[in-house]
Amino acid sequence: MSGTATLTRKADFPGLLMPDGAPWHYLDTAATAQKPQAVIDAMTHALGRDYATVHRGVYSRSAQMTLAYEAARKRVADFIGAKSENEVVFVRGATEAINLVAQTWGVTQIGPGDRILLSTLEHHSNIVPWQMLAERTGAQIDICPLTEDHRIDLGALEALLTPRTRLVALAHVSNVLGSVLDARAAADLAHSVGAKLLLDGCQAAPRMTLDMAALDCDFYAFSGHKLYGPTGVGVLWAREEILDAMPPWQGGGSMIERVTFEKTTYAPPPQRFEAGTPMITEVIALHAAIDYVDALDPEALFAHEVALAKTLRDELRNLNSVTLFGPEDSAGIVSFAMQGVHPHDLGTILDEENVAIRAGHHCAQPLMDHLGVPATARASFGLYSDESDIAALLRGIERTQRIFG
Ligand code: PMP
Repeated sequence: MSGTATLTRKADFPGLLMPDGAPWHYLDTAATAQKPQAVIDAMTHALGRDYATVHRGVYSRSAQMTLAYEAARKRVADFIGAKSENEVVFVRGATEAINLVAQTWGVTQIGPGDRILLSTLEHHSNIVPWQMLAERTGAQIDICPLTEDHRIDLGALEALLTPRTRLVALAHVSNVLGSVLDARAAADLAHSVGAKLLLDGCQAAPRMTLDMAALDCDFYAFSGHKLYGPTGVGVLWAREEILDAMPPWQGGGSMIERVTFEKTTYAPPPQRFEAGTPMITEVIALHAAIDYVDALDPEALFAHEVALAKTLRDELRNLNSVTLFGPEDSAGIVSFAMQGVHPHDLGTILDEENVAIRAGHHCAQPLMDHLGVPATARASFGLYSDESDIAALLRGIERTQRIFG
């Protein structure tokens, strides 16, 4: 497989070893990625010799920490092709980013009878915040169906758009199926009726070159922990003029310009949306994660994981008791079902073989309903995955087949 050898950087990831030093075949990167030593080191230094608060201290350590924190914002902006670092809001994760948009932009821009368009394959975090908003505002939710090969059906999306559609919110890459959205086409469609497009980029940010200008979306959300960074940090990107017009979300320190008991005025974005002491160490470690991924070339990562997914799909297809979900060109995420074996039983047997897969509904219950299964088994690749992981998975599947007869 071309490119695989150069991309397999298992040695950089201490989490990929069992306590006895044996390899751990980690195939749950779509849930959360293992961390390279560079990220662990960045976190250690930020919590140790460099630690201080940001934005407030008059002493030099705090001033340096503030520079490092804001340098991370600039690094994120460059990584995703944002026009300005002022368009980058640090949040706890994609879930928080989407809730922030729903509770600020949504509450002010969406009213009774307005429509929000989602798709069948969305993660719960791109469904529930909109349901909560719809309940609060009297808006309606429309659901775009999938094509036969499990992609968001853009033809159907076009037909579902109405002049009342205010927001289209879609996964850039599905966490269950690995389907990649033609995001630019979705943006053009949404904009044709004056709607905004929010992309849930949780699975795309670790796998694809991102360019906000080329995507032409209005909001983009992702989590640091899936991008080889720490938990507890994520990014909301939005166009500067949209952020400028958005009311604050949480109130507290750092998000204000001036507070009196009569009236408080708010800081401009992104500070307006970052109330309280931020996740300083996590933001700095996210910077290290982006440096690590960027040095490997996101386009090569994408090709590497697509190739692994294709290999796995071909191998699974040869086992006639396996049903495959998702498109052939999945972005490194393969969901499947084995006849007569519950995904949890498969996951448990694989665990005995030092192979970690995910078994369950993957926070996408409406998609499970659509596929007609309560759960799937999911193997998802990362930049450190290689054919040895596929071989271990297949050995475990064969053993499972023997056990279940
Ligand atoms: N959207 C997608 C597509 C995801 O895969 C996930 C994480 N599984 C989320 C949203 C939510 O991310 P987090 O839990 O980090 O907020």
